[in-house]
Amino acid sequence: GTEVRLAARPEGWPTLETFSVVQAELPPLGAGQVLVRNLVMSVDPYMRGRMTDVRSYVPPFAVGKALDGGAVGEVIVSKSPGLAVGDLVLHGLGWREYAVVGAAGAVRVDPAVAPPGAYLGVLGMPGHAAYAGLLKAAEFREGDVVFVSAAAGAVGSLVGQIARLSGAARVVGSAGSAEKVAYLTEELGFDAAFNYKDGPVREQLAKAAPGGIDVYFDNVGGEHLDAALLLGRMGARFALCGAISQYNLKGEIVGPRNLMQAIAKGITLRGFLVGEYTDLKDQFLDRMGRWLTEGRITHRETVVQGLENAPAAFIDMLRGANTGKMLVKIAG
Ligand code: NDP
Repeated sequence: GTEVRLAARPEGWPTLETFSVVQAELPPLGAGQVLVRNLVMSVDPYMRGRMTDVRSYVPPFAVGKALDGGAVGEVIVSKSPGLAVGDLVLHGLGWREYAVVGAAGAVRVDPAVAPPGAYLGVLGMPGHAAYAGLLKAAEFREGDVVFVSAAAGAVGSLVGQIARLSGAARVVGSAGSAEKVAYLTEELGFDAAFNYKDGPVREQLAKAAPGGIDVYFDNVGGEHLDAALLLGRMGARFALCGAISQYNLKGEIVGPRNLMQAIAKGITLRGFLVGEYTDLKDQFLDRMGRWLTEGRITHRETVVQGLENAPAAFIDMLRGANTGKMLVKIAG
């Protein structure tokens, strides 16, 4: 089957030359393993970090080897008693048409509950990060004024809606286009939103949250974090989820510049990884499932067709081409 490999480590922005799309032999199927035909895969910002050769919380991708990441596929051959042909499973070997997966690395998902792609977005890792990041890392409380960046993306669009449903006094988002800003205020129920490309974040945030903010859910870093520090109220809590404005920078990263504000106002900055909050997974799935059934949370997916277009989908996601979760449909 086809697989997508890392052809070269990118410096700065990845390009199509970063990837190679090749035909590969499948390894033999061992006991306890299943052969999966992938239906849909995720492209995620954290994958950019794995393209660089530094040790982090996940090891780097190897040059010349297939990339990996979240995917949902159908079991077509099973040597595991726990999984049957026809089962749909969530697993970690995306970026390929067929995957040989150990049963321990495959979680059965129910297509009657939600379509396969949902398990990579609203009911998957991004949803879990939004839920745990807001409620635990940021210690959200009823009555908070909440600001979230990359607000029209997979994580951000859920953070804003969870905040609204949980009793936020005001929910403010930033995103990179007029269409996304309209989506936030007209479809997702944000109280205010702005396009960070229209002018300084500091000025636009001051207008959108005139009384300041209690929670900042940071997906972006850089200028956004600087502005949020200036607008933070006494005792504000910042959940540092991502810093996507910096992932493709070459050379040294400078800042944040306004940390004196954190001292003066007792602001907490807490970085987190979704993996710290496995204890909240069931609660998240239960509540998110209910919100979806009741129609109280909506979500979008931007779906690119074809595994060969996964590299372009990944690059486009980093540039903001997606509204909601960016997915690549491989088959089905
Ligand atoms: P998104 O669906 O939000 O896609 C990324 C978005 O980032 C783009 O759509 C784009 O939207 C925005 N963006 C790109 N460059 C910039 C920039 N320079 N300034 C501001 N916005 C920019 O991705 P996810 O929801 O999957 O991830 C969002 C963030 O959360 C990322 O930083 C990611 O690394 C992090 N994350 C962290 C986790 C954790 O465990 N800590 C788990 C999951 C995600 P726009 O058009 O608005 O610019």
